[in-house]
Amino acid sequence: MDELAKEYLANLVRFMGPAGKILINGSWIAAGSEEPIDVHNPATGKVIAHIAAGGKAEVDLAVKAARAAFDEGPWTRITPTERSRLIWRLSDLIEANSEEFALLETLDNGKPLGAARADVATAVGHLRYNAGWPTKLTGDTIAPSSENALLMYTLREPVGVAGLIAPWNFPLVNAILKLAPALAAGCTVVLKPAEQTSLTTLRLGMLICEAGIPDGVVNIVTGYGREAGAALTEHPGVDKISFTGSTQVGRNILRAAAGDFKRVSLELGGKSPVIIFPDADLEQAIEGAAARIFGNAGQVCTANSRLYTHRDVFDRVVEGVSERAEKIKVGPGFDAGSQMGPVISREQRDRILGHIEAGVSEGATLTTGGRGIGSEGYFIEPTVFVQTKPDMSVMREEIFGPVLCAASFSEDDLDSIAREANDTVYGLSAAIWTRDLTTAHLLSRKLRAGSIRINGAGNDFALPFGGYKQSGFGRENGREGVEAFTELKSVSIGH
Ligand code: NAD
Repeated sequence: MDELAKEYLANLVRFMGPAGKILINGSWIAAGSEEPIDVHNPATGKVIAHIAAGGKAEVDLAVKAARAAFDEGPWTRITPTERSRLIWRLSDLIEANSEEFALLETLDNGKPLGAARADVATAVGHLRYNAGWPTKLTGDTIAPSSENALLMYTLREPVGVAGLIAPWNFPLVNAILKLAPALAAGCTVVLKPAEQTSLTTLRLGMLICEAGIPDGVVNIVTGYGREAGAALTEHPGVDKISFTGSTQVGRNILRAAAGDFKRVSLELGGKSPVIIFPDADLEQAIEGAAARIFGNAGQVCTANSRLYTHRDVFDRVVEGVSERAEKIKVGPGFDAGSQMGPVISREQRDRILGHIEAGVSEGATLTTGGRGIGSEGYFIEPTVFVQTKPDMSVMREEIFGPVLCAASFSEDDLDSIAREANDTVYGLSAAIWTRDLTTAHLLSRKLRAGSIRINGAGNDFALPFGGYKQSGFGRENGREGVEAFTELKSVSIGH
């Protein structure tokens, strides 16, 4: 473990106490009587800290604090300019402590330090992008058709108390991806980080207090999903749930939210295709395809886990991606030169290896990888399958690990290519590599996915992001991401 990371962790543990604390109404308090949760370093499997196992009682306190800060408190009364200033102030504090955040993230999540640093910069960017929104949320004036109406207009109002449930693959980024637009819209929140990776969110909570964001506006409850997460989803004081994680839990959340018609945004799983045409810049396409499945050890909701390549270039592309897979330096995130860290937990490693075993037994062929690495930590070889069939489990289920399944297409007609690419219950993202703009635009329209990325382009704070089909609904980022934390009110005035 890196020395500085050890020191930062020790500081955090000193502040939180050995069993962790939760943030309620601006105060850090001990959470109930539940056994604290062990925090593991995924690179070693060793326990490095404990966090509080918040449950129903803690969630209730947090929701009450958020409710009071919304219904009576200062947050809905302060000016949009002041909200902007506080969000920007938080971004400055994170930036000033960015190395600490990166070290804590690598320790807790396992990702290479360079990737953790990039995550912190992304989180800061999200806050700054959203800091611009409070002063720009507007309604419309409507031309009335009825004779007794003088004026009609709409107001954008914050939805109320938002429950934010984040996953473990990009812990800080995902927490802020939800927090920043919620605050910009004027909501108060209860934030529940994933139980595997709560450390950077707890540190974030300290800076939220330091930034001067009023007490009760942001409350943080650590804990298990089935307890703290479920209690938040079911709580009648919560107006909206924004969730990122598995499709299965998304389904449970939707059911629980139906009781009192909570607003829900769900960013769920994917089995996203990457489609490579023979006219593409193949070197770039190979590099891009490898990056989009082995980056973050494949633990990315938009990972392009199904590779469709035109038969004329199939062998060259598969060979290129497999060669890159073999060259990836897999190791602890703190090791200089590590390009891929461990996966998050023993359960995830076993799940992924189980998927690989199923692929082999169903008749797919490995060109590279397929095994776990070493006995310490949760490392897995970058893995590529060929001879895949559309009905194999590796082609249908989200593996959420560094496993690519390759298939060729022989058709030139875009409808059949789209049919194969769309043959999944998911619809989060799709990538296309071609130099032919007509092909790129036509195929983009035929693909049933929320984000289409052509020739290696990525995401952006300003670009709406979310899923079709079982990848969820609602959009994050951009105007839509902020408006997802608002209600629209219509006002009409007669004369
Ligand atoms: P998960 O969906 O169980 O956990 C995500 C978050 O939801 C965590 O904060 C968790 O505590 C919370 N949660 C769990 N059960 C809950 C419940 N009943 N009510 C409310 N909140 C609950 O994900 P996981 O089990 O940690 O990972 C399993 C699979 O989920 C992965 O293999 C992957 O397929 C998928 N996943 C997707 C994403 C994504 O970005 N879309 C992120 C993480 C995991």
